[in-house]
Amino acid sequence: NAFTLTDPALFRSHGFIDGAWCDALDGSVIQVNNPASGRLLGTVPNLGMSETRRAIDAAARALPAWRAKTAAQRAALLRTWHDLLLANQEDLARLMTAEQGKPLAEARGEITYAASFIEWFAEEGKRVYGDIIPSPQADKRLLVLKEPIGVCAAITPWNFPSAMITRKAAPALAAGCTVVVKPASATPFSALALAALAERAGFPPGVLNVVTGSATAIGAELTANPLVRKLSFTGSTAIGKQLIAACAGTVKKVSMELGGNAPFIVFADADLDQAIEGAMLSKYRNAGQTCVCTNRFFVQDDVYEAFCEKLAAAVATLKVGDGLVEGIQQGPLINEQAVQTVEKQIADALAKGARPLTGGKRHPLGGTFFEPTVLVDATPAMIIAREETFGPVAPVFSFSSEQEVIDLANATEYGLAAYFFSRDIDRIWRVAEALEYGIVGVNTGIISTSVAPFGGIKESGIGREGSRYDIEEFLEIKYVCLGGI
Ligand code: ADP
Repeated sequence: NAFTLTDPALFRSHGFIDGAWCDALDGSVIQVNNPASGRLLGTVPNLGMSETRRAIDAAARALPAWRAKTAAQRAALLRTWHDLLLANQEDLARLMTAEQGKPLAEARGEITYAASFIEWFAEEGKRVYGDIIPSPQADKRLLVLKEPIGVCAAITPWNFPSAMITRKAAPALAAGCTVVVKPASATPFSALALAALAERAGFPPGVLNVVTGSATAIGAELTANPLVRKLSFTGSTAIGKQLIAACAGTVKKVSMELGGNAPFIVFADADLDQAIEGAMLSKYRNAGQTCVCTNRFFVQDDVYEAFCEKLAAAVATLKVGDGLVEGIQQGPLINEQAVQTVEKQIADALAKGARPLTGGKRHPLGGTFFEPTVLVDATPAMIIAREETFGPVAPVFSFSSEQEVIDLANATEYGLAAYFFSRDIDRIWRVAEALEYGIVGVNTGIISTSVAPFGGIKESGIGREGSRYDIEEFLEIKYVCLGGI
């Protein structure tokens, strides 16, 4: 393995249940590969339904004492966990790049981002206020209490192996809930390293559990078990729909961060260089494998050619390679299937008249490396206009009027992130209001921060993550009617 850790104890090959490191009952394991080399990185236990039940039982046993702590006591533990993430940032980043492929600079950034959720919610947990409602009857007092919802399950994806865990676990823990996390099978080591640091921080056994293994078996138990009161999922819309349906059986509260089909609109009055900078960050970060990555570029006629040329020139300079090598800007895609999806979308686009200005095929490095690609003359008839790309491919469409582009941008079942560039203040208000998306970036390609609400509308999801709104996702409202006064 081409990576070394300062602290090898952060590389764990066991699940973490009830404060103990464990194997599968039947001893089976799943293999985890480094996508840059295709070589085996290590194995983690292939846990199933019964181990998941054990984790849920442990979380349920840990719940009364955890929720009984003061918010300040929970915040102190969370703060320690946060500090440990940052103290071990380099190791966590290297581990992440080794299993996920993203360039080291991005992995380091993700650890900072992951830690920021812990810090934010450690503080936010102290601000869970109730209400006193003016009573319509003189002999009654009406009180509203906020209480932790209970045991929470988190199912997380491989594109942000650390941040998607802390973004779910931190608000849950801060609110007084206990947690069972099922990380993506492609990236379990980042999750287990976070668990190792939580153990060091001193969280009581059962408060945070990590169950690696079969998605269907673990998912089935997490959704069917009545002790789990909340499921938070980040992943594809197709799996999200299945999980929502499975949670109906026990009427669990759900948060869903699902797919996107982000438009990126460049109006003729935009600052083109600013738009190019935003485009590079929004499209090519993590090799295009984020749910808020731009899927469709819409550029107004007058600046279409200039934008496409500048974009292609910038894209052609991207350094592709093993993310562990300093200076690499784009790593491999996560697996062969991801490459095939991108290839299929490009072949369809080319057959329907698109032209590649740069890239368009597998990278000479082989494996799952793919050339950063710009396709011009894209049309709505192409698959790439409708399906999430999740790869380093930018299809560029042209448009003439504001209303036309708003209709094009909204013509999707998704509604996660949208971006547009303009310097006309009236237009900025109009377009920001007209876009049917949960997140709108204006003159920027980067919108994520722990202090703002992240989430989608339509089939992109339910609920928001980050910000003061998120803690409510892990709380129940209890109304107390105090009579006879
Ligand atoms: P992606 O691979 O694009 O991230 P998925 O929705 O396939 O999206 O996976 C996201 C997470 O959901 C991963 O942790 C995966 O293991 C998990 N997952 C996949 N299928 C199921 C399922 N049927 N039940 C529960 N979890 C699942």
